[in-house]
Amino acid sequence: MGSLPKVAYFCMEYAIESSVKLYAGGLGILAGDYMKEACDNNYPLIGIGIKWKQGYGEQLIDKGSDMPFDAYINRHYDFLKDTGITVTVKIRQRDVRVKVWKYEAHGVNNLYLLDTDIDGNDGEARWITGQLYGWFGEERVAQEMVLGIGGVRALRALGFEPDVYHFNEGHALFAGFELMREKMEKGQSFKEAWENTRKEVVFTTHTPVIQGNESHPIERLIYMGANLGMNKGQLKALGGSPFNMTVGALRLSRKSNAVSDLHKDTANRMWRKVKGRSEIIGITNAIHIPTWVDSRMLELAKNYDDSAAAREKLWNRHLENKNELIDFVEKRTGVRLKPDVLLIGFSRRAAPYKRSNLIFTDRDFIEPLLKPGKLQIVFSGKAHPLDDTGKKIISDIIEMTRLYPGSVVFLENYDMEIGRMLTRGSDIWLNNPRRPMEASGTSGMKAAMNGVLNVSILDGWWPEACRHGVNGWQFGNGKQFRDENKCDAHDFRALKKCLTNEVIPTYYRNRDKWIDMMAASINTTRVPFGMKRMLDEYYTRMYIDN
Ligand SMILES: *Cc1c(COP(=O)(O)O)cnc(C)c1O
Repeated sequence: MGSLPKVAYFCMEYAIESSVKLYAGGLGILAGDYMKEACDNNYPLIGIGIKWKQGYGEQLIDKGSDMPFDAYINRHYDFLKDTGITVTVKIRQRDVRVKVWKYEAHGVNNLYLLDTDIDGNDGEARWITGQLYGWFGEERVAQEMVLGIGGVRALRALGFEPDVYHFNEGHALFAGFELMREKMEKGQSFKEAWENTRKEVVFTTHTPVIQGNESHPIERLIYMGANLGMNKGQLKALGGSPFNMTVGALRLSRKSNAVSDLHKDTANRMWRKVKGRSEIIGITNAIHIPTWVDSRMLELAKNYDDSAAAREKLWNRHLENKNELIDFVEKRTGVRLKPDVLLIGFSRRAAPYKRSNLIFTDRDFIEPLLKPGKLQIVFSGKAHPLDDTGKKIISDIIEMTRLYPGSVVFLENYDMEIGRMLTRGSDIWLNNPRRPMEASGTSGMKAAMNGVLNVSILDGWWPEACRHGVNGWQFGNGKQFRDENKCDAHDFRALKKCLTNEVIPTYYRNRDKWIDMMAASINTTRVPFGMKRMLDEYYTRMYIDN
């Protein structure tokens, strides 16, 4: 390719390395994997993020109440390079200094992190980059001003001149305000600045959950100073009132995308009433293969020929991964799981639509499987620190670990390391969100490429990949319900049928077929859901001006 467009990629979180707590969940995993792939391929793309002092909370389980609680720890990363650059953003009428660090480790050299915890800032300003997703109101706006406005100013100071600004989620929208401000300062009208800024911006939306799309009263944006001189009417024209960050980003971008084909339809339906918004296309998420996939499994699958020898090699390699997981679980929980028992992995943020408890709907079904040791389940996941419903979901799972000791375990403080262990060492990867709430879901891709078979609702990426009974299983047939209770009852019956009639018998009675499915799982997913495909798709369909 000739010269590729230069891209500045904005995201609140990046998951680069498990112990570097600049991430909360799936959005950060995607962004981290994206930066690594861009770096591997030398693409002219740089990332703008925030150096979180405490990151997202550590979440542990209180042994008395079985409830999750959150702990915040100050982090120090001595591998970050000081760029010597500081920019200023006016927040609440006060100048806040923003320091720019460069992340050069763990396979990336293209990520810049903004930090307000520096000398010269008052105590309040120093806390802006304190906790990832720690607040929803003013503090969130302040964080987003640092990311967006500070981010554009950092790019100017670095001398990087992007052709395209990519907002990964609406958090970065104020970068668009700064681009408009620059243009208006040079004499363009509001309308001209809006039109010209749109030409430079692309936007990715991630959540079909309406509450997940942040909004703020217009007055708040004004007294925080996020408006950068724009008046109420102008702000309303961009993001409505209250001001919705997703709506604003849809109107301030030349093109947008959702993160799977199904999510594209959902997002277009969800935002159909927004006038003047960009078109939403579908670009399905993917994973950075070297980060998540056991290269030996990958090699064995590539050379797989369904001979007895090939089967044995693939199976033995899987057993090594399973035993590693079993050791890991024992170290963390004291529970020793069994290598010859079907092991279900399930790790998810504890959000109601993900239904972590679905498999426990009917004790008469699950008990005869768990008690004699036909099935074992490893859970992990965090609830948002301020989400009591999510915390209740986790404490319900803890109750299951007490009811079925030795068969159900919970790994606290879900992070990349746990994610990596579980998506390598489980036998199956269970995914049962209420369709169509799971926009993509990348953990299932990690599992699939490690030969861990997906057993999943047809949501997110899975309708694009699933070949039922060949590379995994679907249940629920893609049916959608308006009534949540009906949906849950229907999907539970479908899950039960799939486990009883297909998954369990195949595992215990047709091991050859199981191993063939593992190879098919790896071979049908490694290219379409590898990050190189996704990176190239963003270049050809979003960045290259066409
Ligand atoms: C892969 C991963 C995710 C994203 O997976 P989902 O399928 O979206 O749940 C979130 N957190 C961690 C730690 C991961 O490794």
